Amino acid sequence: MFRAFLYLIVFLLVMSVVRSVLGIVTKAFSGLSSSTSPQAGASSSRPPSSPPTGGELKKDPVCGTFISTATAFQKSSGGQTYYFCSTECRDKFPG
Ligand SMILES: [Zn+2]
Repeated sequence: MFRAFLYLIVFLLVMSVVRSVLGIVTKAFSGLSSSTSPQAGASSSRPPSSPPTGGELKKDPVCGTFISTATAFQKSSGGQTYYFCSTECRDKFPG
């Protein structure tokens, strides 16, 4: 009787461990597949295959990354509007 109870406890423990491990693994995998792309060509930019919905794609004149006008950082210079991927690029841009 005691042994059966012990087995039950061990079984429950193992199940909870397996569950938490599976949760971590699935979380890690879904995070990996959504945030990083296997191609490491461009440095620290969004994957070009999945642009954010809405807006038009414009090229960042500083680093060359394509960004959506809906999410880009804008700067007006000489009657033209420029779009940047980050505030760093915007600050680097002359004008
Ligand atoms: Zn940029």
